Amino acid sequence: MRRINHGGSCGDSCCLRIQDLSVRIGTDKILKDVNLHIHCGQMVALIGPNGAGKSTLLKAILGQREYDGIIAFSAPGMRHRKPPRIGYVPQSPSFDPGDPVSVADLFACCMSRRPAFLGLGRDMRDKVIECLERVHGEELIDKRVGSLSGGELQRVLLALALEPLPNILILDEPLSGVDVEGQTGLMDMLDEIRKRFDLSILMTTHDFGMLPQYANKVVLIDHGILKKGTPGEVLNSEEFRQVFHRKGGCV
Ligand code: ADP
Ligand code: MG
Repeated sequence: MRRINHGGSCGDSCCLRIQDLSVRIGTDKILKDVNLHIHCGQMVALIGPNGAGKSTLLKAILGQREYDGIIAFSAPGMRHRKPPRIGYVPQSPSFDPGDPVSVADLFACCMSRRPAFLGLGRDMRDKVIECLERVHGEELIDKRVGSLSGGELQRVLLALALEPLPNILILDEPLSGVDVEGQTGLMDMLDEIRKRFDLSILMTTHDFGMLPQYANKVVLIDHGILKKGTPGEVLNSEEFRQVFHRKGGCV
């Protein structure tokens, strides 16, 4: 399996470079000829119909799918060959509503070797509060994970993905299962995090209405890149019309 190489050059800038990427699963070619640059501080939205290969592309970047081609990361001051740190929130994570695990327990499991049933030490609790503050979610610390709303769960998982602070944040359909008000709140928060930490954010979404306000770049894929550009360029393109018209508007 190939992994991200550090050292692909993209001028002197901080950049994730995907070049001539293709992914096969069995005999099926899921993605072909994908070429894309994502610069630090950019919010890039990946759109396309169901089954287009959006999650597959994210998994290739994460090193969870074999691929042909190049995925390279470069950043000023980064040591040669050091791979980027990637924060990831998967598509539709779910927790049993009756599960007694609290947000604090979840962080303890991920960030400490101490068994969760022993509770959090003072230092670790302070650290978890600091992580949750990044997503304005400190009041969630003692809630049960299974009782969280879609938007609250996304914020908690985002706080986990941001510790330690990654170079690239990858979110697979973070807006699905979140009500409209929660979606705007989540996008505002992602925008704030992107600017504050100069993060690259790559997210998949079917909520096109959010794109003009929040995305720097939109990439339309259907087993390969059909169109990339500003939200206006992609959403008003013939390629966009053809993909979603052909699918009868069902995305
Ligand atoms: P999207 O996220 O755009 O909805 P996916 O990347 O999940 O699409 O899937 C793209 C295609 O790859 C689909 O046809 C899907 O059935 C296929 N696929 C994804 N994962 C697997 C797998 N593990 N085994 C076989 N086929 C898969
Ligand atoms: Mg998907």
